[in-house]
Amino acid sequence: MPPPESETILYSAEEIQARVRAIARAIDADHQTEVPLHVVGVLKGSFVFAADLIRAMQTPLTLDFIVIASYLDGATSSGEIQLLKDLDSAIEGRPVLIVEDIVDTGRTLHYLHAVLQARGPSSLKTACLLSKPSRRAVDVPVDYVGFEIDDRFVVGYGLDHAEQFRHLPHIAVIEPPAAPPR
Ligand code: 5GP
Repeated sequence: MPPPESETILYSAEEIQARVRAIARAIDADHQTEVPLHVVGVLKGSFVFAADLIRAMQTPLTLDFIVIASYLDGATSSGEIQLLKDLDSAIEGRPVLIVEDIVDTGRTLHYLHAVLQARGPSSLKTACLLSKPSRRAVDVPVDYVGFEIDDRFVVGYGLDHAEQFRHLPHIAVIEPPAAPPR
């Protein structure tokens, strides 16, 4: 694995912040009711994005996190999705926004969307910082996308490889892992 200084920066911290602010404005514009928007961050990868996104939003909101395991040990996918930590509160009748780091095959988001939709939220939308459209194996709705990227493995801004690199303020491409199997 290369040291951080040999990574290729894909998006700088400034570029990311500009996109996060734009997404926050779009969410604010779409969410016009007084009912707080229940923001659900998908741990661990979305924690930085979620933290910046909610601070850029004006709309009233509540926050919860869910933990899903889909990529084990960074780069390889088991093909299985497990819910490791559920929401702390019920979402029936509430507007919900899922905040995810990256949509790759779409399987994780598809699973999460189905699980949360079954609980009867008044609306269910999704914000993803990154999307790899060429990798999509499952059709899943994504309402807000930060950046569409090619099939490269990226780290930083919450995203890891084997639990490293989450702290980077930018998003970088690293070369080690082969593309996860579909
Ligand atoms: P999907 O179920 O859409 O195939 O996978 C979504 C999950 O795969 C993401 O939440 C993320 O954990 C992981 N993932 C997919 N592509 C990348 C990538 O380029 N970098 C990192 N760090 N994780 C990725």
